[in-house]
Amino acid sequence: MFEQPLSKYAVIGDPITQSLSPDIHNACFHQMEMEANYDAVHVRKEELAPKVKSLIQSGYKGFNVTIPHKVDIIGLLDEIDPFADAIGAVNTVVVEGSSLKGYNTDGPGFYQALLQVHPFNLKEANILVIGAGGAARAIVKTFLLKGIKKVSVTNRTAGKAEQLLEGSSGLLLSLEEAEANLGQYDIVINTTPIGMVQNLHATPISTEHLESHTDVVDIIYNPLMTKFLKQGVEKGCTIQNGVPMFIYQAALSFELWTGMKPDLSLMKKTVEQKLGGK
Ligand code: NAP
Repeated sequence: MFEQPLSKYAVIGDPITQSLSPDIHNACFHQMEMEANYDAVHVRKEELAPKVKSLIQSGYKGFNVTIPHKVDIIGLLDEIDPFADAIGAVNTVVVEGSSLKGYNTDGPGFYQALLQVHPFNLKEANILVIGAGGAARAIVKTFLLKGIKKVSVTNRTAGKAEQLLEGSSGLLLSLEEAEANLGQYDIVINTTPIGMVQNLHATPISTEHLESHTDVVDIIYNPLMTKFLKQGVEKGCTIQNGVPMFIYQAALSFELWTGMKPDLSLMKKTVEQKLGGK
C-alpha cells in the first residue's frame, strides 16, 4: 500500500487563534477519510509576502485569508478570479505548483446563506447593509453583481460607504436616516463587529422602528446570538446569525481546493459545539 502524501491547508491572519476554520475543515477531512490537515498560521501585516512564500515552499495546496490580508494578498497572486477582482478582496487562495490563484467566497457564501431566510424575490428585496468594511464590500458587490438594485448602506465613515456604492444605484444613508426608515426594509444586515464579545451589549443601529416583516441578519457568529438579533426576535422578525455565511464560504473554499463538497451539517454542528449553542 502506498501512503498518500498529506495535503496541507491553512488560514492566515492576525489575530488567528480564535478562528474556527481549522475545526470545520479538519472535521470534514476526517469524515471523508482524506489525508489532509488545515491549520491556523499567524501572519502579521508586514510579513505577508515571506510567510506566503514559505507556505508554498512547505507544500501547502491552498489557504484562506482573513483580517488584515484580504486586499494585500492580491498583490502576491498570479491570477485572480473575475468575481474576486470585482469585489476587490480575496479570502481563498489555490496553490498550483508555485502559482497562486485568488477567489472570494465570502460574497457568494453570504448570498447562499441569505437564500435560506429569504428564498423568494431576493432580487426585488429592499436591503439595508450596516457597515462598509471588507465583509460589507463582498456582500454589497455580490448583490450588485446578482442584479439586486435596492441596496442602501450606512456606515460610521460615510466616505467608505460612498466608495462601495460608486457606479451603482445604491443609496448612502446616515445612521439616523437608516434608523428612522428601518420599517421599510425587507432585510437588514449587520456587517460591523458591534455585538461581538468586546461589545456584547451594543447594537449597530436602534431597532425602535424595526417591524416584524423585516429579516434581521448579523454576520457575527461569536456570540451566536447578538443583542441585535435578540431585539429582532422581540420584534417578531426572522433572524439569521453568521454561522450559515461562515459555513457556506468555507464549503466553497473546500470545493475549490479538493473538488469535493463537504458535509454542511457537520460544519454547522462543529461550529455550534465549539461555541456552545445553536
Ligand atoms: P472591517 O473591514 O474591519 O470593517 C468593519 C466595519 O465595521 C467598518 O465599516 C467599520 O466602520 C465598522 N465599525 C467597526 N467598529 C465600529 C464601531 N465601533 N462603530 C461603528 N462602526 C464600526 O471588518 P470585516 O472584515 O468587514 O468584518 C466585520 C465583521 O464581520 C466582524 O465581526 C467579522 O467577524 C464578521 N465576519 C463574519 C464572516 C462570516 O463568515 N460570518 C465573514 C467575514 C467577517 P468604519 O468604516 O467607520 O471604520
